[in-house]
Amino acid sequence: MDASDDRRLIERRAVWREGFYETQARTVIERVPRAAGIAQRWAVSPYRGCAHACRGCGARAGHAKLGLDPGRDFDTRVVVKPNVVERLRAELGRWAGEPLAVGVTGDCYQAAEEVYRLMPGVVGALGEAGVPFTVYTRSPLVLRDAAALAEAGAQVAVSIAFVDERIRRAVEPGAVGAQARLELVSALVEAGVACRVLMSPVLPLLTDAADQLAATVRRIAATGAAGVEPVVLRLPAATRSWYLAWLGEAHPQLVGRYEELYDGVGLPSADYEARITGQIEQLCRLYGLRCGAPEPVVVAGRPRFPQLSLV
Ligand code: SF4
Repeated sequence: MDASDDRRLIERRAVWREGFYETQARTVIERVPRAAGIAQRWAVSPYRGCAHACRGCGARAGHAKLGLDPGRDFDTRVVVKPNVVERLRAELGRWAGEPLAVGVTGDCYQAAEEVYRLMPGVVGALGEAGVPFTVYTRSPLVLRDAAALAEAGAQVAVSIAFVDERIRRAVEPGAVGAQARLELVSALVEAGVACRVLMSPVLPLLTDAADQLAATVRRIAATGAAGVEPVVLRLPAATRSWYLAWLGEAHPQLVGRYEELYDGVGLPSADYEARITGQIEQLCRLYGLRCGAPEPVVVAGRPRFPQLSLV
């Protein structure tokens, strides 16, 4: 790089085309940041940034590293890896088989996927390699690939942390509502896809009341989902400022309580997290749902995730 070249990293590495930054990725299997709060340690993500615009999204820091704003730019300037399938196939040739997450730095079935259609290739590559994988999404577009996901033995984790539409419009303005996501879970189960619900993120003091948690788990139980995995909101640096700016406008009386609840790296207090997780575990028992991330098992040489509700 020319020392005098002070353009932002994204402008040196990417081409702006029809509303998206296109970049040729060198490596596509990336370490999952601890702040993500999910079970897998490694992930592949065709997109960085996300039009679903969740206020508490833990992936915002990636945009700051590219010289973009982790707030508004993360929501509106999505970085696409058009060569993700080719690179993934190359990296899977050396992969030891550890489970992968798909769609961590941006929802892999957000609107960009309608344009680039990268996921069929990703699903095909992972299925052929026999690597257990979990697709994280809030988008009904995942149904388009249901047959391929079922064939590959994939698990889909649909995020539904609450069923209150007023809060959803405020904190997940680009995603479809809870009812549409509950119907999505039922449709995936119907299509033979192993599907569970990620109750993420539970928002302290906004969506964590006992009746809110109970209403959410009860409606999840009616979908036929294989289980529920609770994740309390994380606030790593870039996310913290964006989330707290909104909280300061919408619920200024809560800002001080968040400052007390979160540590310097953005994790909620262990006591608080244990209390919320415990409440959700109890609700899962009540409604006959598995709680937590299930381990894949190998059936006929292929990884499979449980599909039936288990207590
Ligand atoms: S859908 Fe996922 S990746 Fe997209 S903004 Fe929301 S939390 Fe972030």
